[in-house]
Amino acid sequence: MSIARSTVQQLLATPADHLDREVLAKGWVRARRGNKYVQFIALNDGSCLANLQVVAAAEHFSDEALTGVANGAAVAVRGRLVASQGKGQAVEIQATEITLYGGADQETYPLQTKQHSLEFLREQAHLRPRTNTFGAVLRVRHALAYGIHKYFNDNGFYYVHTPIVTGSDAEGAGQMFRVTTLAPEHPPRTADGSVDYSEDFFGKATNLTVSGQLEAEIAAMALGKVYTFGPTFRAENSNTARHLAEFWMIEPEVAFNELPENMNLAEDFLRSLVRYALEHCAADLAFLAEHYDKDLLERLRFVADTDFERLTYTAAIEILKSAKKKFEFPVDWGTDLQSEHERYLVEQHFKKPVILTNYPKEIKAFYMKLDEDGRTVRAMDVLFPGIGEIIGGSQREEDLGKLKARMAEMHVPEEELWWYLELRKYGTAPHAGFGLGFERLVLFVTGMANIRDVIPFPRYPKNAAF
Ligand code: ATP
Ligand code: MN
Repeated sequence: MSIARSTVQQLLATPADHLDREVLAKGWVRARRGNKYVQFIALNDGSCLANLQVVAAAEHFSDEALTGVANGAAVAVRGRLVASQGKGQAVEIQATEITLYGGADQETYPLQTKQHSLEFLREQAHLRPRTNTFGAVLRVRHALAYGIHKYFNDNGFYYVHTPIVTGSDAEGAGQMFRVTTLAPEHPPRTADGSVDYSEDFFGKATNLTVSGQLEAEIAAMALGKVYTFGPTFRAENSNTARHLAEFWMIEPEVAFNELPENMNLAEDFLRSLVRYALEHCAADLAFLAEHYDKDLLERLRFVADTDFERLTYTAAIEILKSAKKKFEFPVDWGTDLQSEHERYLVEQHFKKPVILTNYPKEIKAFYMKLDEDGRTVRAMDVLFPGIGEIIGGSQREEDLGKLKARMAEMHVPEEELWWYLELRKYGTAPHAGFGLGFERLVLFVTGMANIRDVIPFPRYPKNAAF
C-alpha cells in the first residue's frame, strides 16, 4: 500500500500523530554507523535542522541491501515510527524498506563528514545547502522573508512590484549595471562616435535598478502604505563582508509619515522581525549560536527588547571627535561616516542600536527633505551591532520648488524624472520611507560574519559562478 511522505520536521515536531504507525520519509544520508546486528542512518531532508534516526536491523537488511546507503546518498525509508531506545532522539524509524535513489561516491563527494571552511563551501554553492550551517541560514532567511510580508500585511501595507530594468540612471545610489542587447564588439554609433542606444532593445540606455524607492513613492501617493521587496543591483567595487553586487531590498514608503513616524516604523519593524525569528527559528538559531557566535541569542533578545538610541548626525560627530579611539578615517562635520564610526557609536558608546538623523545635505540623495537650516536633510540611518548601517531612509522632499533646486544643485536631470516631479505638482503631501538590505538583516539574525554566506548565490566583484 502506498503512503504519503512525511517530512522529518513533521515526524519530529508532532511525533504523537505518527507514533507506532507506518511512515515514509525521504531525504539524504548524513551519516551511517553501526555493527553487524544493526545499522543507524542519520536522514536529513532539509525540512528542519535535526536528522531522523533510521534503524536498519540486520534481520531485515543484508549488507548488500544497504550498498550505497552512505553519506550524501538520496533514499526513501519506510518503516514504523517508534520511541527511540537510544539517547539523542525521541523517536526513530524501524526501517522495513530502504530504496536508494542515488548514491554518492565516497571518494569524491565534496561534503565529507568532517567540518568544512565557509570559504571552501562558497565554491560548492550547489551542495552547501545540504550542510547544517546553510540549511539553518536558508531556513532563517525564509522565516525572515515570510515575517516581513506578514508584518506589512498585518499593518495594512500593500506589496508593490517596481521594475528591475530601469530607464533612469538618476536613482542616486551608486554604480549601475547596464542592460543591453547591443553587440559589444560593434555597437551602432551616432555621428559623434558614441554608442547609439536608440538602436537598443528599449530604444534607450537601460540599467538594473539600484532601488525601488522612486517608484514606491508613486504607489505610496496612491495606496498610502506600501512596500517593495525585490532584487537590487550595485556595481560598486566594494569587496567587503557587508556588500553584494546583487541583494534584496525591502522599501516601505508611507504617505503622510514624517521623520519621527519613519523612525518608529523602522524600529518596530526590525524589533518585530528579530522577535519573529527568535520565536520561529529556535533550533536553527541555537545551532548557529553554538557554532559561530556564542552571544547571538543574547544579542537578538537585547535588540528585540531595547529602545534604539536616536540622535542627530551633528551630535554623533561631537561624540566621535571626543572619542579616545583612533579611527582609520578622520571624522569632521560634513564627512560621511565609515563603518568603523558607526560601529563605535553602536558597540562602544551607546551599546545598543542607534538611529542617526539630519545628515548634511551634501552627503545624501537629492530627494531627501531639506531641514529649516538649509544645511541638513531629514535622513535617518539605522546602525546595528556588528553590521553598521542596516537601514537608510528619509522623509522625502514634497515641495516642488525645493526639489527642483536640489536636483539642479546635484546635477540630476529633470527630463528623466518628470514623473517624480509631477508627484509634487499634483496632490503632494509629506511622505517617508526607508530601505532595509535583506542580507544585512539575515547576517545580523544568523550571526554569520560574511554576507556571502547568507545568500544562496552571492554575486560580488569577479564572482558570478553558478
Ligand atoms: P553602505 O553605506 O553600507 O554601502 P548605502 O548607504 O550605499 O550602504 P543605501 O543606498 O542607503 O545603502 O541602501 C539601503 C540599504 O541597503 C542599506 O542600509 C543596506 O542595508 C543595504 N545595502 C546597500 N548596499 C548594499 C550592498 N552592496 N549589499 C548589501 N546590502 C546593501
Ligand atoms: Mn545609506
